[in-house]
Amino acid sequence: MCNPEFLGYYIEKELRIGMIDFYRFKNLSNEPGCMHAVTKKDPDEPYALSLALHTGEALDEIVANRQKIISELDLAEKTYFVVAEQTHSDNITVITQTGTKGWEALENAVSDSDALVTALPNVMLAVLTADCVPILLYDRKRKAVAAVHAGWKGTRSEIVLKTVRKMIEVYGSDPADILAGIAPSIGVCCYEVGEEVAEHFSDIPDALKRKGKKYMLDLPAVNHYQLLKAGLPEPNIELSGVCTACEVDSFFSYRKEQGCSGRFMSLIGIRSGELGIRN
Ligand SMILES: [Zn+2]
Repeated sequence: MCNPEFLGYYIEKELRIGMIDFYRFKNLSNEPGCMHAVTKKDPDEPYALSLALHTGEALDEIVANRQKIISELDLAEKTYFVVAEQTHSDNITVITQTGTKGWEALENAVSDSDALVTALPNVMLAVLTADCVPILLYDRKRKAVAAVHAGWKGTRSEIVLKTVRKMIEVYGSDPADILAGIAPSIGVCCYEVGEEVAEHFSDIPDALKRKGKKYMLDLPAVNHYQLLKAGLPEPNIELSGVCTACEVDSFFSYRKEQGCSGRFMSLIGIRSGELGIRN
């Protein structure tokens, strides 16, 4: 006799072979001109599908993980990938040349940059995180995208607001046409900070909750506030509502895993054939 429970497990395992699960935003998924994905942990892949080259794992296995996610994404035949050396800065780099950077080696990554912007089709911009806030932006009219990495330092320096301003400056974007996705990051439930961090956010509504002598900081809420300040209409902004520390089985969490080296990736790009209106 077959044990039905065992059979169920077996079928489930078999079906998932070659299938990688991604987190996706509803608002960006509805846009045919935009390609995006947020990777999740996968216990069956090396390093649980970590995608960071800078954290000391075997380079060939991380590159293989990266190739694996490409094969699972619905991309054009020739798609390029751009990754930056993230430094908790507010530096924004506009990608104007088609090509892959920082994908198979750190040496050719975009240097010292925490936001990437492009209007080139089939160029996927990527940010790597494990608790910091990844934000994906898409201008549905001008057909431009951005990928932003905002930890507390980047958030303090309003990197997401500056990235929207960069899109206005370079592409003539109207913030009313920009959709935003705030991907999984550490939530207010789990992000305890001291006075020295909290003081930078004390004038932002709903940024902080007092907890004894400490504070709980809501980084997704602060980035949401900055997107509104940049002129995005509220319905254009989608918050994942997922806390990486609470959902540590699905996402890497530097705090919850006490300095883990794994990172997940948030990616966004313009699908070719979907060129935007230019001035
Ligand atoms: Zn949490």
